[in-house]
This record gives sequence, C-alpha cells and structure tokens, in this order.
Amino acid sequence: MRRLVIVLAALAMGAGLLASPALAGDPPVALASSPTGLRGPVALPSGVDPASPYLPQISCSPIDMPGVVKLQALVLKTYAEGRSGGISRGCTDGLSEHSEGRAWDWMVDVGDRSEKAAAADFLSWVTRNDGRNARRLGIMYVIYNKKIWSVYRAGEGWRTSSGHTDHVHVSFSWNGARGNTSFWTGKVGAIDYGPCVRFTGTYGARTSTPRTGSCPPSSGLLVKTSLGDRQYGRTGDTVAKAQVLLGVTKTSRFDAATWSAVKKYQRAHDIPYTGVLDQPTWASLSRSSVTSRVVSGYTRSEAVAYGLEHYSGSTIKRTNVGKATMFLQIALGLPAADRNGFFDTVTLAAVKKMQESAGLTQDGVVRGEEWRAMAVALR
Ligand SMILES: [Zn+2]
Repeated sequence: MRRLVIVLAALAMGAGLLASPALAGDPPVALASSPTGLRGPVALPSGVDPASPYLPQISCSPIDMPGVVKLQALVLKTYAEGRSGGISRGCTDGLSEHSEGRAWDWMVDVGDRSEKAAAADFLSWVTRNDGRNARRLGIMYVIYNKKIWSVYRAGEGWRTSSGHTDHVHVSFSWNGARGNTSFWTGKVGAIDYGPCVRFTGTYGARTSTPRTGSCPPSSGLLVKTSLGDRQYGRTGDTVAKAQVLLGVTKTSRFDAATWSAVKKYQRAHDIPYTGVLDQPTWASLSRSSVTSRVVSGYTRSEAVAYGLEHYSGSTIKRTNVGKATMFLQIALGLPAADRNGFFDTVTLAAVKKMQESAGLTQDGVVRGEEWRAMAVALR
C-alpha cells in the first residue's frame, strides 16, 4: 500500500513537471483550449491533406504566393490584431521560405496582451489534433516566442527555437503557398515538391506547375565564368554589368526590373529558370566571361564521334542536363552561347530539324540512330 502511494506521488510529480511552463515541449504561450480558429470558404472534405515534409527554400522567387496572401487576409480579418510583416523578400536572407513567397510574418507581440491572445488562438487551432488544420492549409511550420512547431515533426510538439517574440512566422509547403489545399479547394491533393535544382550549386529552377515526382538528375556546372552569381537584393558593379547587357536601367541594384529582365532572358534562351544571374546565365549573356567549359576544344565532328562512341546506347532528351547534352549541342553545331549542357528548346528544335533532314521520326529524342545520322551528315 505504502509503495503504491509513493508510485502515485511520483506519477503526480511527473505530471506536474510536464505541465510546468519551463519544459521544452511546452507551447510558446498558453494556447487557447477551444480556439475560434479560421473559417474557410468551402465545405471541408472528410479526408485531410498529407503532412508536408520539410521543403526548404531552394529557389529565388520572391513573389507573394496566392495561398499565403489569402491566409494573411483571413488571419488579419478574423483576429483584427497585429499587422502583416510581409511575405516575399530578397534572396540574400537565410532559409525562411520568404525568398519563395511562401512564408508570412504576422506581427503580434508577446508583450501585448490582446495580440498574444490572438496568436495563442491561431497557434492552438493550427497545431491541435496532430496539426490537422496545418495540413488543410499547407502550413509547414510556425515559429513564435522561441518555439517552433512543424507538421513534419508534429509528434514532437513544440521544440526550442529562437527569437520571434514580436511575430509569428508561418512557412508553407508548395501546395499551401499555391492555395492548393483542402481548406481553400475542398479537395485533398498530392504533395507538391516544388522546384528542382538543375545545376548543382545554383538555385532551383522555378515552375508554375506542381511537381509530384522526383527531380530529374542534376549536373555539376559545365561552364564557368569570371562573373560571380548575383541574386535579387544584391548590389554592386557585377549587377550593373548585367543591367547594361540586359538593357535595363543601371541602378547597380538587383531590383524588380532586373529580376524581370533576367527571367525574360532565361525564358527566351531556355536557361534553367532560376531568376538568378548564375553561371549558365552569365555564360550566355557574356560569352567573353567564360573561363572554362567541361567540354571544350571539340570540333563538331569530334563531338559526333565522341557521342557515337559513348552515348549510342542511351537516350538524351528534353530537360536532360549534363555532359552528354553538351556534346550533343556541339555535335548539332549550336552557337557557343547555347552550349550550356541543358537540353533546352533551342536544342530540341535543332534535334528535330536534324531528324527531319535525316528522315527520322521527329520526336526530339536522341538515340544511337541520331548520332549515326549526324555522322553521316558530316561526312
Ligand atoms: Zn518570417
């Protein structure tokens, strides 16, 4: 009997400790026990969206995403507390998803009673029931008052973080950012994994369509230049040089006009669509800046011979990136500015033209017969 009392006392003490506000698993502020939460525009389905894995920022695309804009408006309208601290930012900050327009800062100070109460209601509603509402909104994680809660580690509850005493940071999955979640659409969708990196060491190439499969293989840089990578928010002479080449106002600041011009140039030349002045873009913009190419010094017929020997047994097609594509670009006789190792639309058009003149099916896919046809044509 006595032993049982001791055990019960120990259990009670344990429970008491768990309820203590000093422990790591506790929320950032006392959360509302029955939160008001947000009301969506549609009837919710019985299913709940899958919990997003952590999809860190990998591209530089500071556009306010529609799902984030909608949540921002709904939160401010529902609670009428605090103000917006903004969505998208330049790409010189850290990993926050703000550079992809899929994070929002809600300025609600822990020192302000009514702002703190609004945050407590929102965070309670978002995280309760293993984050069901977070999943419905495509919220990936929230940070407030030195604590972080993430949907991909929901079982661990609130974990220790830092700062954020004057705002709630809300990061979204790509589905959440695009507004493609059941809270807005009434439908549960597959996870959207977002952009892919094509050349390692560069930013991800932005797409307007969701990605549900894995990324195509990436490649190391095949062309290097004397010019450094520059992204939105950077300043200096290198940015000014690009502005001259792109024909935009020379401000020496990577501003919105420069960003638009870089994207337009990349679209026109079908360079991986990063919106960043990266090595593939510089190599195309400024041929004289090229300092090294993985494949250089090959004549057209030497490139064909190399391709026949090494790539006859494989296929090379649209969106492939790497050395094989670079040999193909030389073999096709593309101008130096278009030899970037990325199977772009310029390369595709050249392949189809070659297939047409060789009497092959114009499917844009390069196999052994295409290499043989190029060899015959050059003879
Ligand atoms: Zn933030």
